[in-house]
Amino acid sequence: MTTFEHFDGQPVTIPPSLRFRFATLVLAAGATCALAAISTAAPHDRAFNVDTQRALAADNGAGEDWVLHGRTFSEQRYSPLSSINTENVGALGLAWQLELGTDRGLEATPLMIDGTIFTTGSWSIVYAIDARTGKLKWRYDPKVPGATARDSCCDVVNRGLAVWQGIVLSATFDGRLTALDARTGTRLWEVNTVDRKFPYTITGAPRIVKGRVLIGNGGAEFGVRGYVSAYDISSGKLAWRFYTVPRDSEGPFERPELSTAVKTWDRSTTDWHDRGGGTVWDSMAYDPALDLVYVGTGNAPWTGAVPNPGEGDKLYTACVLALNPDTGKLVWYYQETPGDRWDFTSTQHIILADLNLGGTVRQVLMQAPKNGFFYILDRRTGELLSAEKYGIATWASRVDMKTGRPVMTEHARYWDGNSEKMLYPWVAGDHNWQPMSFSPRTGLVYIPAQQSWWIHSTRRVTHFDEQTPDFKSLKGNQPLLPTRGYLRAWDPVHSRTVWEAEIPTIGNGGTLVTGGDVVFQGTAEGNFNAYDARDGRLLKRIPTGTGIIAAPITYRLDGAQYVAIMAGFGGATLFMLDEQNPARRFENTGRLLVFKLNGGPVPLPPEKPHTDSTTRRFEVKATEAEVTHGIALYRLNCGRCHGMLTSKALLPDLRQLSDAKHQIFDQIVLGGILTPRGMASFADILKPQEVKDIQAALIFLRDHPDYGPGTEDPATLGLRPAY
Ligand code: CA
Repeated sequence: MTTFEHFDGQPVTIPPSLRFRFATLVLAAGATCALAAISTAAPHDRAFNVDTQRALAADNGAGEDWVLHGRTFSEQRYSPLSSINTENVGALGLAWQLELGTDRGLEATPLMIDGTIFTTGSWSIVYAIDARTGKLKWRYDPKVPGATARDSCCDVVNRGLAVWQGIVLSATFDGRLTALDARTGTRLWEVNTVDRKFPYTITGAPRIVKGRVLIGNGGAEFGVRGYVSAYDISSGKLAWRFYTVPRDSEGPFERPELSTAVKTWDRSTTDWHDRGGGTVWDSMAYDPALDLVYVGTGNAPWTGAVPNPGEGDKLYTACVLALNPDTGKLVWYYQETPGDRWDFTSTQHIILADLNLGGTVRQVLMQAPKNGFFYILDRRTGELLSAEKYGIATWASRVDMKTGRPVMTEHARYWDGNSEKMLYPWVAGDHNWQPMSFSPRTGLVYIPAQQSWWIHSTRRVTHFDEQTPDFKSLKGNQPLLPTRGYLRAWDPVHSRTVWEAEIPTIGNGGTLVTGGDVVFQGTAEGNFNAYDARDGRLLKRIPTGTGIIAAPITYRLDGAQYVAIMAGFGGATLFMLDEQNPARRFENTGRLLVFKLNGGPVPLPPEKPHTDSTTRRFEVKATEAEVTHGIALYRLNCGRCHGMLTSKALLPDLRQLSDAKHQIFDQIVLGGILTPRGMASFADILKPQEVKDIQAALIFLRDHPDYGPGTEDPATLGLRPAY
């Protein structure tokens, strides 16, 4: 089979042996009588036949399987199952585990359909697993080129897949959308969804709406133009595409909505080579009754990527969009962070629910984006119903309910001149992509939250010592709070915290809440926790030896309830391992963990081999200026994956590089010999002398383990940020 490389969704290949059965499935789409037709082909063909009716049945209370990414179209991540409940969850233990053969971040929400668990791992690998035995049924490796890891902001992760009418739909890190036979893992078709001239990546889970598969992409920090596309499941043919930002100031535009948007981009400061951002990299939801698709869009170019983020609202970045699922036409939009220059994004998880607000039941959409405000919108009209702070946010004092706009504070505007600004929240947000959950029983939203501050600067000053007068003047009247994680139970109707559980680390997993009133969450420190959904009482803590960032699911099989979670640390915080993170002690062995009542303990992963830096004697000759230059280059090009000198990273700590690796340093950094592991060649942006300087810096840092971040400000050395 050939992979077609055409941009804009041209098909595709179907192996001849599968053509007949595939055609049968296609004809069957959406028709209930199709079950009989398929069952004549083979008795097991009925399996994995998720369709709209079956998905709606899940919404109406059937909780056996987990058939959609957020379990139901509403994406509430609430399961009515209650066999495991507040009374007995203390007896939760491991039913089985499966090692997935990866050691990078695992972010996927698995699906459990007809006794099979479908999930994705790092490098976009797809797994089908027998849910009874934990035995691997099939594995599909899309062979993502290792070089594309350099395009990642946040690890080579994938957040999940869709199963529809016997077909598995998943997207690859390098931008392909793939359809697989759910029974065998055989590829049915594949289409490239991006222009590979630009550093697009896909990490999000596709959603299925009316026989079409919706997929977006990421890369706003690196110069891409965001969009969401719909492809026919039957053929892989592009049905429609909605670009979230204009191509340039002049047009012509693909859609009239973009003629409106371009007026909100400042012509004098916009550099269209930055391509606008607004990427649809995670959240989507579908309301079948209103027949509207909701998508969240990412940030506009900001200081991390551009020297002047400029003025204007920059539609449709940092928005919630309501689209017509048949045409992609924009029905309404609400912009949460106008002109988003702080990487706040509106791509965080969207939940649909009916809430009683002031005596009236409203059909609402809820979102807790990175910017610290919890938004409730009327999902029919986009009307703003509520916007209150769920976390710490000093960039805006409040949202004006008349205009729907945030009232920005003095801390927000950093792009006038060279004025650094400190503000909350930081660029990873008070809440990031990790899914939250909503229980109709408690009326609470369970937000996997965190807090930290950030200094924005067009000069990209990368470090401030908290003790210096400079920092104190930047901080102003803002508090200096510890970086921490927490699980917050938020009452959306009254905009208040009902309870909160402290977690020492940031970057923890998503949440699940059940009819047994249990909230489940894994943490970056490697615990799988169960809380009482009503009052936050910790009911069970299971140490797993692996940092967890994904969200759990639950299902019932043969009468017993199970809870499943992907365990594998990585993602956006891979370059800053907390002291508590088990990846400092254990191998980061990617696993699927499945729990049940009266199960056993979780076996810990193998301990990391001890490294002794005193045996490392590789030397190079370099001047002090070259070492300083090397440290600055390291920060720009290496730190995002290997650690920012103040932090430990999941990926190899280059200060501990072995002599053997130092001897082939050029072959790695320029020759690209470790490309299959994700360490691509940097020959296109680093000169041989610069690589020598980086190596000299690493040896200096090896020999000076107490060396803190110094004055090697890349900007003052005239270096343009790569990120
Ligand atoms: Ca971003």
